[in-house]
Amino acid sequence: MQWHPRVLWVGIGCERGTTRELMEATLQRVCRSAHLAEAAIAGVATLDLKADEVGLVELCRDRHWPLRCFTAAELRTVAVPTPSERVAAEVGTPSVAEAAAILASTTRGGEPAPLRVTKHIGRSPDHPGAVTVAIAQAEQEYLGRPGQLWLVGTGPGQLAQMTPAAQGAIAQADVVIGYGLYIDLIRPLLRPGQIVEALPITQERQRAMRAIELAAWGLTVAVISSGDCGIYGMAGLVLEMLADRPWDGKTPSIQVFPGITALQAAASRVGAPLMHDFCAISLSDLLTPWAVIAQRLTAAAAADFVTALYNPRSQSRTSQIAIAQSIFLQHRPPNTPVAIVRAAYRPEEQIHLTTLGQLLEVPIDMLTTVLIGNGSTREQSGWMITPRGYLGADPSRLGKSSPTD
Ligand code: SAH
Repeated sequence: MQWHPRVLWVGIGCERGTTRELMEATLQRVCRSAHLAEAAIAGVATLDLKADEVGLVELCRDRHWPLRCFTAAELRTVAVPTPSERVAAEVGTPSVAEAAAILASTTRGGEPAPLRVTKHIGRSPDHPGAVTVAIAQAEQEYLGRPGQLWLVGTGPGQLAQMTPAAQGAIAQADVVIGYGLYIDLIRPLLRPGQIVEALPITQERQRAMRAIELAAWGLTVAVISSGDCGIYGMAGLVLEMLADRPWDGKTPSIQVFPGITALQAAASRVGAPLMHDFCAISLSDLLTPWAVIAQRLTAAAAADFVTALYNPRSQSRTSQIAIAQSIFLQHRPPNTPVAIVRAAYRPEEQIHLTTLGQLLEVPIDMLTTVLIGNGSTREQSGWMITPRGYLGADPSRLGKSSPTD
């Protein structure tokens, strides 16, 4: 098998009226003598004045090559081996072919791409005009379309709990990247021919970097996170890393596919604990200083928010959940209902309803979400309910429209 990644950009300059035949014959001669495969040509680059040059437009059309045009001001900035004073006087840049080839091959913000072939001039007694050809090599293959990054939330862990849009995104992507456990959960959606990369849970940065790299090639890359991708998930990291480089917001393009987050999944298994104002707090202090977490716990407890605790306890990080409990006990009674939901919607699911005072008696780990009720949350026959106030509504409000819409 021979594979020719499309990495060569041909810079072309020419006199007005140069024929397509002369351009093509010169290019073929140049490729042959430099041992370059024409199949590796990604496209043609030139000066914007040549955008309507008939021979050039015909050549690009017939060979399905994109024609990229640069202004003289852009081309002038490129250092080239074979500048020409005559060309500079005529069109305002000392190089068209070499400078355009280099510019088209260079990644934005990157080092100038190397020239594989310096300027060659083509003339023929049989054809009018004259053409100059140079070839540079890009680092990345050109696939003819901008890459796409799809940031996909796969829900709590059961396919039926994933949105159809998220399922479709995973099935359509060229590449699926995620933590190994989540890849296993969505394996039935994968199809032959997809690139699937499972990485260990600690390598979030590498995962995001790899996704950006593959999208830069023009691929459609789905980055998956459990729950919602934008809630303690990969979406934020990928966007932060993109924003950290020259990125126009469009190349690669971004689409975020929401998913059912752990607090919703956990709540659905125990009733309706989130019926009034609530918040989520992660107890992981790997990226957030503990002082900030403690301050938020105190504020949430004091403001009577129903509170979902994510990342409550790991093997090495065990004290935070006890501190969180004591902070909440300063603001809520020990009999406040608490739901402890582990691995919701997965085969190993475990559900416990307990109280704020006794929550440490239930096993809690990194697969667990802890839901702490507010001052009016009740436990009723094994269900957790946070009343919205319908039944105890102020009589003066009766007859007015329901606040639930
Ligand atoms: N992006 C995810 C959260 C990632 S943080 C989401 O939106 O759900 C990881 C934490 O989420 C875990 O420590 C746990 O607290 C919670 N979690 C994720 N999946 C869960 C599940 N199936 N059941 C219970 N908690 C879960």
